[in-house]
Amino acid sequence: MQRLPARNSILGEGMLIRRALPHKERRLIGAWCFLDHAGPVDISNGDGVRVGPHPHIGLQTFTWMIEGEILHRDSLGYAQIIRPGQVNLMTAGRGISHSEETPAQHSRNVQLAQLWIALPDAKRHIEPAFEHYPDLPRFAMGDFNATLLVGETSGYVSPVRVHSPLVAIDLVTQASATDTLPLQADFEHGVLVLEGSADVEVAGETQTLEAGTLLYLAPGHTILNIKSSSACRLLIIGGKPFEENILLWWNFVGRTREEIAVATETWNSHTAFGKVEGYPGEAIPAPAVPMEIKGSL
Ligand code: MN
Repeated sequence: MQRLPARNSILGEGMLIRRALPHKERRLIGAWCFLDHAGPVDISNGDGVRVGPHPHIGLQTFTWMIEGEILHRDSLGYAQIIRPGQVNLMTAGRGISHSEETPAQHSRNVQLAQLWIALPDAKRHIEPAFEHYPDLPRFAMGDFNATLLVGETSGYVSPVRVHSPLVAIDLVTQASATDTLPLQADFEHGVLVLEGSADVEVAGETQTLEAGTLLYLAPGHTILNIKSSSACRLLIIGGKPFEENILLWWNFVGRTREEIAVATETWNSHTAFGKVEGYPGEAIPAPAVPMEIKGSL
């Protein structure tokens, strides 16, 4: 087991973001290549989330809404509010642009997880797409309430369409709870406590986790025991180790510096990625690409 402390940053007025992936010691878990946990934060006296139009290539963005609402707009013409318990999945493929904002009518608190999924080489140039999933499988796992976000577990199957073998499960409890979670032995996994704390035991070794530390589990495990003494929420992700060498720079996943430089140039010169209609603000320019992209594996 490997403990990976998330890096904290502040977005806008006081929204804490914990970035668990990529980590300098662990760039991917399966094809999961980015994991931000934002909030919970009270936005009643602020603007909330305001991320202007920006592009993506070579990945899917996966948004899991825990509290509050976000309005997604994209260059395909979708404008979709996501609410607690729902997932937005945007497949960038060869290129898309989008914005994210707190809608005018909103709850006091906002909390979400946003993850990116690297597309395998055979799929990374597909047409862009957007899907909203209002209903996901919900069931009891031990004493926890589980939502299956991606993949399969315990006879349930998520409808979320991904392009490599992956799993993601949200577990929440309002009181002390235990669970024995089956793991797929050919998957590597990550366990992130979003709220509260939990003891996580694998193969006789126990780690106490609090919000802000991602626990990495190598392939080969079939059982994960989780124990919480009070209210707690966890996110478990996993997948078959992703064997392709990716470059992750800014909002782009590619294979060569050249294609990331081209994406940067076409975004900044407005010659690709379409247009996001209706966002009340400016698009975000792409930063200059360094000679060597350190995000390589
Ligand atoms: Mn984005």
